[in-house]
Amino acid sequence: MENVLRDAHNRIIRDLRVSLTDRCNFRCFYCLPNGEPPLARKDTILTFEEITEICEIFVGLGVEKIRLTGGEPLLRRDVETLVEKLAELKLQIPNSKFKSSQSAMRNQQLKDLALTTNGFSLKERAGNLKKAGLDRVTISLDSLKRDNFRRITGVDKLEEVLEAIDAAKNANLTPVKINAVIVRGYNDDEIADFARFARENNVKMRFIEFMPLDSGHEWRREMVVSGREIRRRINETFPLKLKENSRGSETAWKYEFADGGAGEIGIIAPVTEMFCGACSRIRLTADGQIRTCLFSTKEHNLRDVLRSGAARSEIIEFIKQVVMQKEARHNINDAEFVQPERTMSFIGG
Ligand code: SAM
Repeated sequence: MENVLRDAHNRIIRDLRVSLTDRCNFRCFYCLPNGEPPLARKDTILTFEEITEICEIFVGLGVEKIRLTGGEPLLRRDVETLVEKLAELKLQIPNSKFKSSQSAMRNQQLKDLALTTNGFSLKERAGNLKKAGLDRVTISLDSLKRDNFRRITGVDKLEEVLEAIDAAKNANLTPVKINAVIVRGYNDDEIADFARFARENNVKMRFIEFMPLDSGHEWRREMVVSGREIRRRINETFPLKLKENSRGSETAWKYEFADGGAGEIGIIAPVTEMFCGACSRIRLTADGQIRTCLFSTKEHNLRDVLRSGAARSEIIEFIKQVVMQKEARHNINDAEFVQPERTMSFIGG
């Protein structure tokens, strides 16, 4: 039997996003503005051992990239220990329980271990995370102006985040990517400034369209600044050159600066330029639910399967049949669209 996760639409899953906690210490208005108490009870949150076991199984099934996220993943105590365990999946071929042939074995290795963070405590931890085996980080940065940063995130931490970006570069957690969710009336006037920031700091700036995943249900179509508009507005100040004609299974269209300036621009436009056809992602929530799409209205309880003492072959079977149910596409643009109950902070962005 095939040793990869292929869904009913012939997409192969290579990318697992693991939420380590549903808690966050920022209050971004587009995500978790009121800091609702975590939905998950403590005893439902996966332990590091459980996460490691699940990741090992996924890597055995062809997953090549793991991204740790949340909530704020650095709020989970001792993340470095988990990173150390997961980094072993890059060195070792997962054990022989999966193997049907020698050639399959060679392909089953983790290639990329990343973490997405708001950066608040990264300055102190970047070195140890690198030492533990983390490859790179993505840091959220939604404004370069102190007042506006506070308005968007609910916290006065711009300085700390800027320092975190420097620390990540110094620790070699590279390429450092910076995520900015662009929302009309909040930070669309800073688009060119973010592009300048990418050039001056030699980072990969990712501009993301605002998606209807906010707990405050503030999302309105008029607030979405389309990828096309973002591109046009950067181009007015810093002409861009498309790097590759295809996105592959990546979410971003990638651009370099036409004048050869440092840094990179990525535009992620899930609302106006849907890329579901090439989606290779799957998500695991902090409480052990598999989500096959950010916009799924259904979750699959892997935690209970794992805790029931199921054999590894049964866990693999469960995962495979969940993957077969992966949605063909999201339906944000359909009249009958219903916003998922869980926000980005619970799902794991
Ligand atoms: N706490 C970490 C952080 O701030 O990066 C990781 C979790 S956060 C949910 C992951 C990413 O999701 C962030 O870059 C954030 O900007 C993005 N995000 C959250 N809500 C979003 C929304 N409604 N639309 C688009 N992106 C969103």
